[in-house]
Amino acid sequence: MTADWRESGQSGARPWSVHVLTLYPEVFPGPLGAALAGRGLDSGLWRLETVDIRRFARDKHGTVDDHPFGGGVGMVMRPDVLAAAIDSVGPAEGGVPRFLLSPRGAPLTQEQVKALADGPGIMLICGRFEGVDERVLEGRGAAELSVGDYVLSGGEIAAMAVIDACVRLLPGVVGRPSSLVEESFEDDLLEYPQYTRPRLFEGRAVPEVLLSGDHAAIDAWRRAQAEHVTRTRRADLWARHQARR
Ligand code: SAH
Repeated sequence: MTADWRESGQSGARPWSVHVLTLYPEVFPGPLGAALAGRGLDSGLWRLETVDIRRFARDKHGTVDDHPFGGGVGMVMRPDVLAAAIDSVGPAEGGVPRFLLSPRGAPLTQEQVKALADGPGIMLICGRFEGVDERVLEGRGAAELSVGDYVLSGGEIAAMAVIDACVRLLPGVVGRPSSLVEESFEDDLLEYPQYTRPRLFEGRAVPEVLLSGDHAAIDAWRRAQAEHVTRTRRADLWARHQARR
């Protein structure tokens, strides 16, 4: 499957489109096919195309990697194979950003997720082995994007995280957009604790204020909780939050 996202718009508006370049196309859509993201995919609110990198191998063995120049352990994805896979999607016109999932990239933030969801879509390149030849990133204008300071065995799970974070912000995907407003990372604060029925669970009561019906008091309590959680768990976010004032 290598359909071009630009062909997708039948009546003007094009759905937000993702191209995932991977050696394991069979793992998609995976969890992206379930729940809200899956329903959005089924109803055409966003599009997902996988490109099987191995199809662009130059030999009959389907070789996509080779030994690193300079020596060392592991294998590196070949730039010629990857470039051909990228080019099969079409030129980067229309402002579709290209990313290689990589632990060397800047860690993804909710702010960046919002900006990506506001754009036409994304191309995500999933690395495997020790990584990819640097020159293909330069030659095809791909930035590196990380999902956190730890090492995964491949870019696929990272790509799914990026896609899921973006897709849930697309219009129509989440039923009640107001539920997106008070989330973690808004204002550089983490979310306040949540409670639901039963009122008493294993001897633990729900905070009294939440049962009071006093909305101003509830808002103040939630705000204080969000500040406390952020201050005690994430000094980095808390510093950013305070700098906003
Ligand atoms: N040798 C590399 C790690 C390679 S892991 C290094 O030390 O930086 C193999 C692939 O998994 C990477 O090419 C990348 O596509 C993906 N990957 C691993 N960790 C990741 C992370 N934290 N964020 C995004 N992608 C990651």
